[in-house]
Amino acid sequence: MRNIAIAIDGPAAAGKSTIAKKVAKHFNFVYIDTGAMYRAFTWYVIKKGVDPKNEKAANALIPEVKIKLTNDHKVFVNDIDVSKEIREPEVSGNVSFIASYPKIRIFLTEQQRELANETSVVMDGRDIGTFVLPNADVKIFQTASVAIRAKRRYLENEAKGIKTTLAEIEKELAMRDHIDSTRAMAPLRQAEDAIAVDTDYLTIDQVVEVIVNIVNNKLGVK
Ligand code: C5P
Repeated sequence: MRNIAIAIDGPAAAGKSTIAKKVAKHFNFVYIDTGAMYRAFTWYVIKKGVDPKNEKAANALIPEVKIKLTNDHKVFVNDIDVSKEIREPEVSGNVSFIASYPKIRIFLTEQQRELANETSVVMDGRDIGTFVLPNADVKIFQTASVAIRAKRRYLENEAKGIKTTLAEIEKELAMRDHIDSTRAMAPLRQAEDAIAVDTDYLTIDQVVEVIVNIVNNKLGVK
């Protein structure tokens, strides 16, 4: 059977990764978290003492960065497990600067396309349906209001032991969405052929069910 690609895009903390993981499990596809790749690059930039707002200096690190995503959702940079570190506020607060640099986007987009070539994937991000995999079999644009996204992220952080206030999270999400949707290259936006799924009043299981049904319909599964 040919490889299938399901693209799930949307703003920050809309619950894409939670849903994408479950949808991938349902179809036995590989889940690819492209945000984790931008976060991993950002972690490395900060670790090297480079200012994330310095595009030239960040670009210069490209040849040194080897990112690996494992099947159990761990993230490695040059064989260092950074799965926890990439969720810290310092990375979240700087990742959108790094993600606006075209050279870094091209570097990571190539890897994302290779991964989708190898196997059937559920890939989540901001530009999967519009830029990374424009021919994806199914495109979803997953949204939720800022207040609900901030609350969900707050509870998630609390559970992970990451200390932030609700106000700080709301500010960070709004800032990231603004930078992500106004950058020149591959900005965050809904692809014309994407189906929007508003998750405000749905449980996780309901969102998964909606998306599984959309995929089955598109693929002609009865
Ligand atoms: O998905 P997550 O919120 O972890 O993504 C972190 C950041 O990575 C986003 O705010 C965005 O700046 C960047 N990103 C991107 N393109 C993608 C995935 C993530 O620009 N496909």
